Amino acid sequence: MGSHSRGGPAVRAIHPTRLYNAGVPSGNTHNLINLSTFAVLGSAALYLQRAGSVDFSRGDALGFTVGFFVGTFLLSPDLDLAEQNVNSKRAWGFLGVLWVPYGMMFSHRGWSHSWLVGPLTRLVYLALIVGLVVGLVRLVLPGAALPSLPVRLDWPVALPLLAGYYVSQWLHLIADGVRPDHKMRFRRR
Ligand SMILES: [Zn+2]
Repeated sequence: MGSHSRGGPAVRAIHPTRLYNAGVPSGNTHNLINLSTFAVLGSAALYLQRAGSVDFSRGDALGFTVGFFVGTFLLSPDLDLAEQNVNSKRAWGFLGVLWVPYGMMFSHRGWSHSWLVGPLTRLVYLALIVGLVVGLVRLVLPGAALPSLPVRLDWPVALPLLAGYYVSQWLHLIADGVRPDHKMRFRRR
């Protein structure tokens, strides 16, 4: 006798308040929140589509889904911590190092976590990196055939992508407790 109290390991249920009590949710918590919301949104969209209330094309649904997942896993606002080790940096594999300058440029939960400009900073940064790589490849290997986009990025294609991306970002910010007017309250001095 004399052993510890009996009973199995404590059940580790995630209670909703625990997601917020710790202050800032972890990367895994963010992913869980985003994926659950996606399931709800997807079911609602499917229901409304069946009822004839909305008319989304397959392309719209695909674009939104791609934008949402890219935003959740690859372009999370927490890339502003890319000089450290965060989920969204790890998701890039060895390319994660490309986000280190972004992490150094943006302070954690600063502009990177604003509702409109924040998500845009990551798109612009990504475009700059891609442009830089393409430029370098053209310079070093002038004859090299570069992969092209599978579709033309015109508005009907870009809008669902952007919508999915922004919704994924806003869910992150809501979970972080960041208000929509974050960084917008200018003070005159
Ligand atoms: Zn965050």
